[in-house]
Amino acid sequence: MEKQRLIITLFGATGDLAARKLYPAIYQLYKKGHICEHFALIGTARREWSNEYFRQVVLDSINDAVEDQSHAEEFVSHFYYQPHNVHDQDHYDSLRKLATELEAKYDTQGNRIFYISLSPALFPVITQNLKEQNLLTDQGYNRLIIEKPFGSNSDSAKELQAKLNHAFDESQIYRIDHYLGKSLVHALADVRFGNTPLEALWNKTYIDHFQITLAEAVGVEARGDYYETSGVTKDMLQNHILQLLALVAMRKPVDTTADSLRAHKIEVLSHLRLYEDADDMRKHTIRGQYGQSADGELPAYRSEMNVAEDSSTETYFAAQIDVEMPEWEGVPFFVRSGKRMSHKFTTIDVVFKSEDTEEPNRLQIQLEPNTGYYIAMNTSAHDFQKKPVQIPLSYQYSEEALDNMPGDYERLIHDCILGYADSFNHYQEVVHQWKFVDRIHKLWANMPAPNFPNYPAKSLGPEHADELIQRHNPKAYWYSDL
Ligand code: NAP
Repeated sequence: MEKQRLIITLFGATGDLAARKLYPAIYQLYKKGHICEHFALIGTARREWSNEYFRQVVLDSINDAVEDQSHAEEFVSHFYYQPHNVHDQDHYDSLRKLATELEAKYDTQGNRIFYISLSPALFPVITQNLKEQNLLTDQGYNRLIIEKPFGSNSDSAKELQAKLNHAFDESQIYRIDHYLGKSLVHALADVRFGNTPLEALWNKTYIDHFQITLAEAVGVEARGDYYETSGVTKDMLQNHILQLLALVAMRKPVDTTADSLRAHKIEVLSHLRLYEDADDMRKHTIRGQYGQSADGELPAYRSEMNVAEDSSTETYFAAQIDVEMPEWEGVPFFVRSGKRMSHKFTTIDVVFKSEDTEEPNRLQIQLEPNTGYYIAMNTSAHDFQKKPVQIPLSYQYSEEALDNMPGDYERLIHDCILGYADSFNHYQEVVHQWKFVDRIHKLWANMPAPNFPNYPAKSLGPEHADELIQRHNPKAYWYSDL
């Protein structure tokens, strides 16, 4: 593979995400030879760090993955730090000079990635200054990577997009949803369209319903002030869950380009049935908030730091989502996500119709904790009674295989460097996702305050959650991980 030449300018270089995810990911790319001597990273934030201090921070953050200390030191020698307050115009001048100098030093041929890893409220001031103060190059490429959330509703997303578009057009904007960097998510289209039996059965004739679960064991931790304004619907449903749903429901892309894949996801997201009224919501959704755990060890959400004592923020949400496309008529998508659930697991279940059998056939794609695939197959007990039993056909990735898979951020940064946008959200996807979540919030605003808390920490959520599925199929229930 051709060694990639580029400068990454990272806004938010002193932050948590940079140290936990970004430096280790970039180091992996360097170790594997995707980036090399023609690479530099300018880290910037307000703290007055020196290059030496910055390099030590980066070294500390990659410590676990270092096998060759001198190679790691060579890697961090490509890192430069420039103190910078994004509101201070003069600093962009210093950034431009440094970028020009490093461009010559590392022969990066004018390729620039701007990675903004700080509060979304600061995105516009940065992009505006990048453009007005000539930090965008006209020799190579200019690409912008931004973290979620993209706005807090449809209107703010539209406003943000208009501001970003003054400096970057849509083809230059790479919106991160780190779930799309997960290897099994990346492989979903190949699983669906690369296996004749699955492709043949992936339709309303054979599928009863889908389930998508993103269960977290953690509570809100120190993020109470953020979470109070977001809840699980904005934190998980608006992005990760709806993205997984789109990948599961989309038609076969006509080719392998990012445009084609994203057009098919947009098609699904633009056909999500919006809830009509409070009755519709009561029938098809459940919201929850965790209380203290039964053993008294974990506090209720309302007792967490920076959370209101009478908070009505939802920490759990489950719903039946209907995709109004002819191929999914009568096939609901059941989704759920919650904090402080019994354990962390992320699963996609494809539940097949089962008129003559006790238990349906089912494909479970398990992202975590036991990453792999599982098919529930019916057979009978090997005795004289021949009682029906279900056995698992399963494939679980080994620890070694998991270690060798690129991490989420490694894959996403790699793809951005190569200009592959398929694992990044297109603006139209974000808009339709917001439209769906905005409707939920609009209806909630006129409904009585929920009776919270309604599930204990360390449980699987509100007790009546199975009823949501049983309206559709009385024999069905939520599946956990295997
Ligand atoms: P963080 O730890 O609070 O870091 C924020 C960064 O912004 C710091 O480097 C801070 O550095 C810098 N900063 C703040 N105001 C600034 C200003 N006026 N000028 C220049 N730099 C400024 O946040 P984070 O957890 O790294 O998250 C960064 C972004 O990623 C956020 O948009 C967040 O929503 C998103 N995100 C984070 C995670 C995660 O796991 N952490 C997950 C998903 C999305 P100084 O104080 O030195 O200026």
